[in-house]
Amino acid sequence: MKPAKESKILPRKELREPGAELPKRETHPASAIKRHKSKVAALGCYICRMLGLGITPPQLHHIREGQGMSQRADDVLVIPLCPEHHQGDTGLHGLGTREFKRRYRVSELDILADTLEKIA
Ligand SMILES: [Zn+2]
Ligand SMILES: [Zn+2]
Repeated sequence: MKPAKESKILPRKELREPGAELPKRETHPASAIKRHKSKVAALGCYICRMLGLGITPPQLHHIREGQGMSQRADDVLVIPLCPEHHQGDTGLHGLGTREFKRRYRVSELDILADTLEKIA
């Protein structure tokens, strides 16, 4: 006769007890966004860096500017561009996103992905 299978009892340690409080946040999310933005800004203008012009103080371009995103979403989706490469004649707004991509071979989303990777 086979012995009855022992029923395995899973350790309960790892399970969150019902009603247990979530770990307290160390900081308010708004200050996390602030930190995020200053990290992005610290990278300097993406295009200047790419062109070997060094680290120039950037403005933060909002990826979905004017598309009715919430301010908070906007504040996370930012890329660093100096005034010229942002609003100037050779910049994203001056050229338009399509021409900007043609000229520099990067889209604003490429820059965003690279930026997020760099500050991760
Ligand atoms: Zn620049
Ligand atoms: Zn912009």
